[in-house]
Amino acid sequence: MRLSPHFSHHEKGGGMKGCIFCKIVDKEIVSKIVYEDDDLIAFHDINPLAPVHILLVSKKHIENILGMTDEDAKLAAGLLFAANEIAKKFNIDKSGFRLIINCNSDGGQEVFHLHAHLIGGAPLGKMC
Ligand code: AMP
Ligand code: ZN
Repeated sequence: MRLSPHFSHHEKGGGMKGCIFCKIVDKEIVSKIVYEDDDLIAFHDINPLAPVHILLVSKKHIENILGMTDEDAKLAAGLLFAANEIAKKFNIDKSGFRLIINCNSDGGQEVFHLHAHLIGGAPLGKMC
């Protein structure tokens, strides 16, 4: 049993055993971090689908948006504001981008720790 402040998977800092994004949040696995605040970390996707492909990841381990509660209102809003900031940083604000949150099987979710994909830098085609 870990007795660190990150013991509970409800705490910021992740710590959910076996969760790859908790390990990235805790910096046990190296990632190319582009943004960080109290609630979020953002880093380059290891398998980019476009010239810019950043993952915005909650520090708290939540499986996906279905796991969000009223407590996560600041986190949810912060994710959108962080996406704006990162889009500007990577100069894709004017050209445009897409923000995607996959959920469960039909949504194609592979990592069960809340995250959004910020994708841009090329025309993405119409999806919806
Ligand atoms: P999703 O399919 O929405 O769950 O997205 C998971 C994303 O995490 C995929 O786009 C993967 O390429 C990405 N990914 C998995 N492992 C890593 C890692 N160690 N560093 C960066 N991105 C990762
Ligand atoms: Zn996690």
